[in-house]
Amino acid sequence: MRTIGIYLHVEFLFSVMVWLGRTIRALCNSVRKYGSSAGACFCAGERGGWRKKCYDNPMEEYVSEAIVLTKDPVGERDARYAIFTERFGKMAGRTTSSRKITSKLAGHLEPGVVTKIRFVETHGTRIVDALKISRADISPHDLTLLGGILPEMQADSELWELLTKKPFSWNAVLAVLGWDPRSAICAACGGRAAWFIAQHQEFFCDRCVSKTGKSKVSLIKVDVSVAPLKNGVSEERVR
Ligand SMILES: [Zn+2]
Repeated sequence: MRTIGIYLHVEFLFSVMVWLGRTIRALCNSVRKYGSSAGACFCAGERGGWRKKCYDNPMEEYVSEAIVLTKDPVGERDARYAIFTERFGKMAGRTTSSRKITSKLAGHLEPGVVTKIRFVETHGTRIVDALKISRADISPHDLTLLGGILPEMQADSELWELLTKKPFSWNAVLAVLGWDPRSAICAACGGRAAWFIAQHQEFFCDRCVSKTGKSKVSLIKVDVSVAPLKNGVSEERVR
């Protein structure tokens, strides 16, 4: 009788410990999902409650507004994206999912669309949800060039404002990135710069750019109508 009593006592203690462990883990999870600015959970509004879903899937999730730069189809259903996010800068992301999910995201993840995305880091960045906010007035060609020139994972609030809220201008974008065209001269002849080669980080004039062997399609045209620097001060502000 005494042995059975001890056994029940130990079993009760064990159950309490298991319950405590689960509760603490669930609490940590909810604090991480709701309390930190880095993590956010969309499960809250879903039927069935967020507790089970977040508890079962403690994968780190991130939310940011983003502008889609490029989209490359992968196979029949998936796609790879270059996106510039407000919180994390430029990053690559992919969607790998069923046809249903892909069609759900269609329209929310097209080049030029400003969207709110949710993504997880699992074997690379996987975009799991997107909601279109607006569309930036930037041509597909300029979006592709931006995809090539922007540095990876460097958030830049000034650049974000520029791309999402102002008329697009390469002069302004290059100035923010540290290559102000106002003072730029041709790397070959010292003449007025007209083109920027991102790979070389150099400007060239209309005449010398042809000697570089680069196709103009892959180059950035800068606005030569902006007044040159006089005593270090431009007559016009960069648009
Ligand atoms: Zn030149």
